[in-house]
Amino acid sequence: MNRYLPRGFVSGCICLLALTTLAADPRPRQPNADRAFGYLQDVCKIGPRYSGSPGMDAQQQLIARHFAKFPCKLSYQTFDHPHPLSGVPVRMNNIIISWQPEATERVLLACHYDTRPLPDMDPNPAQARQGRFLGANDGASGVALFMELAHHLAELKPRYGVDFVLFDGEELIYGNRGEFFAGSIHFATEYKLHPPAHRYLACVLVDMIGDRNLAIYQERNSLKLAPKLVESVWAAAARAGVKEFIPKPRHEVRDDHLPLNEIAAIPAIDLIDFDYPHWHTSKDVPAQCSGASLAKVGSVLLEWLSTLPELPLR
Ligand SMILES: [Zn+2]
Repeated sequence: MNRYLPRGFVSGCICLLALTTLAADPRPRQPNADRAFGYLQDVCKIGPRYSGSPGMDAQQQLIARHFAKFPCKLSYQTFDHPHPLSGVPVRMNNIIISWQPEATERVLLACHYDTRPLPDMDPNPAQARQGRFLGANDGASGVALFMELAHHLAELKPRYGVDFVLFDGEELIYGNRGEFFAGSIHFATEYKLHPPAHRYLACVLVDMIGDRNLAIYQERNSLKLAPKLVESVWAAAARAGVKEFIPKPRHEVRDDHLPLNEIAAIPAIDLIDFDYPHWHTSKDVPAQCSGASLAKVGSVLLEWLSTLPELPLR
């Protein structure tokens, strides 16, 4: 810097430099791995959060408190679903968090936020029958990711409006008793029977994306139902330099993306690491997860949202 230049000239140059730097880097900000992991821990500290449980109530309050700090609109879609063992109605709530709520063309980012009542795949039979299932990856990871993404959505200004939807009742299942996907079936059926003023052009579902050894392959039902949407997300992963998104098919998973495709006709895909070794066991705890994994999935989604192609894609 030339020290003989007038002071105003120098600060003007610095401002111009800052503006040029901003303009030259259209990449969205990167998610904060430590903060995301802190959210995962906060959710898990509540304990089990199966549908209708006190833990689920506490989680709903935590989520409402969190998103109240951001410029978004939070609403509930409330319904009852029979308990698989007693038949007594269980009150369920899908939570919808809308960014740019006035936009009539929208994309959905979805996860489930209930946890399975029991760790019934635990190798220890006593645990499987009556152990504690915390759902750090299978439940809390999606919630934590969306809590972190809240720090980035307001400034992202994507081409379409964005809704986060957190499904209740994905797995209020005891052994082979119960119906999967109660929340997403309700959401998709309402969307079909009582079409809202807005349309959803695409949905990306995340499930079990916090595994500390993250590897996300292309899920086969997603490839069958919305292959171009899969391609666009993996292209965003390549641009974001996230090598844990592997552009090859692997597992076929039945998940909340199926009702969205089949009932609501919304092109929907599932991002899921189904090689997680602690699936439905008492070891699905925060120590098996990592903030770095959450941040990687977050950076793919931010890259995808900030460069959205014209939708819908199937
Ligand atoms: Zn599960």
